[in-house]
Order: sequence, then C-alpha cells, then structure tokens
Amino acid sequence: MSKNYVIGFPRIGEQRELKKALESYWANKSDVNTLEKTANDLKIRHWEYQKNAGIEYISSNDFSFYDNMLDMAVTLGAVPKRFQDLTGHELYFSMARGNKEAVAMEMTKWFNTNYHYIVPELSLQDSYKLNATKIISEYKQAKEHGIKTKINIIGPLTFLGLSKRVDGADTYELYTKILPIYVELLQEIAKLDDFITVQIDEPIFVKDLDTKVLSLIKPTYDTLATVASNIKIAVVSYFENSCEASKILVHTPIWALGLDFLHGVENFDSLALIAASNKTLIAGVIDGRNIWKNDIEKTVNLLNKIALHVNTENILISSSCSLLHVPFSLQYEEKMDAEIKNWLSYGREKLSEIALVSQLFFHGKKSLNKNQMTALQENIIANNTRKSSKLIHDTKVQKRVNNITKLEREGKYEERIQIQKEKLQYLPLATTTIGSFPQTPEIRHARREFKNGNLDEKNYTDEMKKYIDDCVAFQEECSLEVLVHGEPERNDMVEYFGEQLQGYGFSQNGWVQSYGSRCVKPPFIYGDISRPKAMTVDWITYAQSKTDKIMKGMLTGPVTILNWSFVRDDMPRGEVSKQIALGICDEVDDLQKAGIKIIQVDEAAFKEGYPLRKTKIKAYEDWAVRDFKLSVSSAKKETQIHTHMCYSEFNDIIATIEAMDADVISIETARSGNELLKIFAKVGYKQEVGPGVYDIHSPRIPSVEDIVKQIRLLLEVLPKEQLWINPDCGLKTRKWQEVKSSLKNMVEAVTIVRNELNVK
Ligand code: GLN
Ligand code: ZN
Repeated sequence: MSKNYVIGFPRIGEQRELKKALESYWANKSDVNTLEKTANDLKIRHWEYQKNAGIEYISSNDFSFYDNMLDMAVTLGAVPKRFQDLTGHELYFSMARGNKEAVAMEMTKWFNTNYHYIVPELSLQDSYKLNATKIISEYKQAKEHGIKTKINIIGPLTFLGLSKRVDGADTYELYTKILPIYVELLQEIAKLDDFITVQIDEPIFVKDLDTKVLSLIKPTYDTLATVASNIKIAVVSYFENSCEASKILVHTPIWALGLDFLHGVENFDSLALIAASNKTLIAGVIDGRNIWKNDIEKTVNLLNKIALHVNTENILISSSCSLLHVPFSLQYEEKMDAEIKNWLSYGREKLSEIALVSQLFFHGKKSLNKNQMTALQENIIANNTRKSSKLIHDTKVQKRVNNITKLEREGKYEERIQIQKEKLQYLPLATTTIGSFPQTPEIRHARREFKNGNLDEKNYTDEMKKYIDDCVAFQEECSLEVLVHGEPERNDMVEYFGEQLQGYGFSQNGWVQSYGSRCVKPPFIYGDISRPKAMTVDWITYAQSKTDKIMKGMLTGPVTILNWSFVRDDMPRGEVSKQIALGICDEVDDLQKAGIKIIQVDEAAFKEGYPLRKTKIKAYEDWAVRDFKLSVSSAKKETQIHTHMCYSEFNDIIATIEAMDADVISIETARSGNELLKIFAKVGYKQEVGPGVYDIHSPRIPSVEDIVKQIRLLLEVLPKEQLWINPDCGLKTRKWQEVKSSLKNMVEAVTIVRNELNVK
C-alpha cells in the first residue's frame, strides 16, 4: 500500500482540451456527444496518471464541466427559480453563464485563490431534492477502468457558508433542509460498493468561524459519518489551519481529517488530539498552491515531526489542497531555461513527489528502487543548485533592499495636494479613465507577431503609436481632462511588467483554471527582482507629446504584481514585494523626470492578498502598505499619485487604504449607487476619490441622465472638491463604439452637474 492521497486533480486537460470542447459546444460548433467524449477521455487519462504515479487515494467527482460548487448545487437540487424549467446541460450551463431570459448566477473567488466558483442561491421557500447522477456515474466509470476512487463532495457547512440567500438572510437557516439531502446522497453512495471512501471538503473550517457554525460541526458529522457502515468519511480543509474545527471533529465518528501543514502550520497544535482519537491524518505536505519542486528531505523531516504525535500507521501523505491550482505538466515547457525548469514541479510532477515522499517516509531509503533513488538524488541536487544559483541571488538588489532609507514620499497629503492643485489646475469633478482602452484585433495581432518575431520592432512600434494617436485624439475630442495612452502594448497588467523585470519567469503552457473554461498563465518570480531599464517611459512620453493636456502614467503596483504571480518560496512574500516596489519606485522617478505629472499605480489585487485568518491580517497590511508607499516614494510633492482598486467594499480596510496615502484613488462603485462610498465620508477620508460612475462590465451604454444621477448620488456623500469622475475600471474588454458613446455621455454629464454647481 502506498498510503498516499491526492485531494483533487485539475480537469481542464494538459492541452486545455476541456476548454476547447466547452467553447466549441457553447458556440454550437460541436454537439453534446463530442463534449462528453472529451470529458470522459480526460477523466480516464487523469485517473491513469494518478494510478501510474502510485497514488492510492484518487478522486472521482473532482471533474467538473464548469465548477464543483455548481455541481453540488445541482446535486442538492438548489436551482434558482429562473432556471427551473430547464434540464441537463442546458440547465447547468445556463446557471453558470446565463441565457437569453435569465442572468447567470454570481461568481466569486474561492478563498484566497484565483479560482472562481458559482455562488449557489438558496431560498427558504424552495424545496431541495437529490440528483446524484453525476457522482454515481463518475464512480462507476472509474471502476470500469479498474480504479476504485474516493468520492469528493463539498461539505454542507462550506456549501451553506459560501451560498447566498435570495432575501439576504443567513444561509445556515437552511441547514435542516440541506442536511437530509446529504444523508440521502450518502445512502445512494453506500449502494455503489462494499466499501467506499467519501472526501468531504470543508475549507470553510479554515476561516474564523462564529459559534453558530462551530456548533453545527458535531451534529453534522455525527449524522453523516453514521449514515452507512460501509462508508468512511474524510473531512478535508486547506489553505490555512482549521484548529477550531479539528477539536470538534475528533469527537465525531469520521474516519480521517485532512489538514494543510504548509499554509496552516498551526495545524500542528491539533496533532495530539488527532492522535488520541486514533483517526487517520491526511497530511497535506506537498504544496498544491505553488510550482516549486518539493524539497523531499525537508518534507520527510516535517513528516517525522508529525509522527512524533501521530502513529505512522494513521498517516497518509497528501497534496496540501487540490492540484487544480497548479498547471498540468512540465512536459510541455520546451522553451524554459533548463536550470529554472529543473526547480519547478507542476501537477503531474507533484504526483511523483507524493509517491516518492511516501515511499521514503514509510519504508526508508533502503526500500527505494533504482528510479526512485535517482529521483531522490536529482531532487537533492535541484534544491541545492537552486539555493546557490546566480540566477536567483543578486547581491546588488539585496544590498539595496538592506539599505533603504527612504520608505515614503516627502510631504504630508495636505501640503502635497495644494501644490498639485496649483500646478495641475484641474476643476472639481475632473474626468479621467482607468487606463486601458479597447484592445482591438489589430493590436493583439501586432503584439503576437512581434513576440513571435514576425514583426520587426519599428513596425510594431508604429502600430502601437498609431493606436496611441487615435486614443489621444479621441480623448481630446470628447474633452476628457486627464488622458491616458490606452495600454495597447500590454497583454496583461502584471505580465507586461514581469517580462521586463529581472527575476521573473514565464511558462509556455502553465495554464491554471480561473473559472469555467477560462484559464490564466501566471508568471513566476524565481529570483531577486530588479528593473534593468525603464519600462513605460517611451510609450507615456510619446503619448504626452501628442497632447497639451495632462497624460497620466500607468503602472502596476508591487502588491498586485505579487498577488497575481507564483512567488518564490525561499523568501517571505513581504521581502519579494519590497524588491518589486523598488523597481516601480525607479519607474515612477523616470516618468516624473520625463515630465509626467500624474502617475497611477494600480493595486487591483490588493484585497485579494488578504489572509484568511484575522490574526494574520495586520502582518499583511503592514508590508503591503509599506511597499505601496515605497513604490511611490520617489514621487515629488507635485507629482500626483493615483491608485486604482477593482472593488468597492472598503468597510473593513478603509484605514489601510487611507494609510497607503495615494493622492487619488479610483474604485468600483457604479453598481452600488453611493452605498459603498459612504465609508469614506464616515471615517473622514481626506484624499481624493474617483468612484466609478458606470459599470464597464456590461455592454450597456449609460445615458447622460444615468451618469448625472450617479454623480448627484456621489455628491451626497463627498464634496465636489474631493471627487473625480471616471468609469469603474479599465476599458480593454469593451468595444470602441461602446466606449466612445459612454465616455462622451460621462463628460456631458459632468458639464451638466458643474453648471448646476456653478463650477468654472
Ligand atoms: N490600468 C488597468 C486598466 O485600465 C487597470 C486594470 C484593472 O484594474 N484590473 O486596464
Ligand atoms: Zn479595476
């Protein structure tokens, strides 16, 4: 027996086969049989990968056509009224993506990952009814292929905790309606085989739970673990510690607890209790969140520490979470620097690591066969060379970081803003945009051709300049006040900077599912970060040369760059972000030296990096704020620093946002009227704010009246002197036609309101 375990496996396919099959099916270019055949082939292939790697506990029902939370909603019959006439794939994909009559269900981030799940909608009026078809057929399918799987399902407390109620009330009030369906589900599962393992995912246990939820844990698992004597239940959590829940779970008749020992070291505190309960421990020790090669010897040491408490017989070696959050296989990385590639491990490589660690831990070095021995030696060498590699360690960067004297810019806000207003001469309710303008097929094509070497630099630059010319001309024509260059040269706001920073790596095929059929390919930080040369100055100064108005320079902030990358694991995140901040700080200085007077440093992902546990928030905020300020510390008093964040829920973090001390912050508020802005007034926020006046996520063109109304709402909360007027976010996903009409209406609306207020 290999005594190892994988929480879940990615399903999109190593060549994104599922993505392609889904998109072709949605576009009516292929039929349902083709879609299902692709899905079935993928499932079988993935089971075989795991089996051949020597994994004992392999999952079924980790596959999904869109999302596992959505699957669970369908399993429980939690179908919102507007979809109730539909069935099968039509129902499922309508819930996920909407249809002509009904809007899609909401989607939101899965804990602190970049994966997004569909938020189930519950109502006290609805009745719920089991539909176990998917779960049962997947189990049978695996079994036909000679693989006896454990069945993964999302636990009732996580399901309820992540759902929303139509009337906004507490979702846990539906507990008594939902739990019986889980009981029925387990009864059905019990009929499948003599003996079955069910993995119940309860990642909600890693959050700070209130007493009501905590009080539900024991009755839930007393019930579920006794539904059928031939089912053993593993309750798994990940991404953080789940100490409070573990304390309770050990007193229920479940078989095993799965804990993440990498992102929740506090889980060590639960070991004595687990040992006393004689339960099985699924020890998450191979990182399912990062792409670095495991240090096998270090992991065995970690397991030895665990084994000081828990009997070895009761330990299973596991991934820390589902491997859904890492790319598929290194096999397709053909262009990567060989030295760097040798430090990495994707999903399939992690399977081998799990197998090797379990062989080594349970049976000792002597038990390794020749291949395993070679693998171990290669692992040791890879980790050693990484530690000492010149590619990673840049003494110049380290020296600079250790000798930072200037952590923030000069001048208090009150002093700065006066100088800026004097110099920049903008009126109250100044109009601007968030940065990007529509990405046309032509510029995408030009970027691609340039990257592939089919377009030379001169032609590429000309193409981009042409776009900038048009973009500037349009903004002048519609009388916007602070202009942007439109970001045509950027494919992505993080990748663009990553590609120009030393210490950043890129993959060819490192796709990770973000939601539905969408995948992202996060860049990775492997070494000390430095900026060899200016990254944006040429584009911005070119754009500035085309207008007498103010051209805003556009940068991505250090915290966002960090949060949207795979980050090196040999250095604290706050140290990595400090290095990035210094690079951005140099860029700010170069821009201002080149005559740029306003610079926006986007922190779109600032909030995403928040820890799951309250006790850890302060540490994050400390370095995140420090490094944002460091990144603009070169700005002179008269250089106005803007920032942008892609959300508007600031109630919990307003003090932190204020501490970042940007002169102007633009945020997303169009969909909430002025509700979410109120916190700024409530705390007496001093700096200027640009609350989005229309939703850029919709193709709908806001009318002048709509925007006038929205501005009036904003004016109920903040004085005109403190307000900027802009859309909610960047415009890159919109069509030019929509953008032109919307922005013209926005400017016209401002003129109307200014006239009313007698602003000249
Ligand atoms: N400046 C970026 C843009 O406009 C900001 C994008 C974002 O906030 N996600 O595209
Ligand atoms: Zn945004």
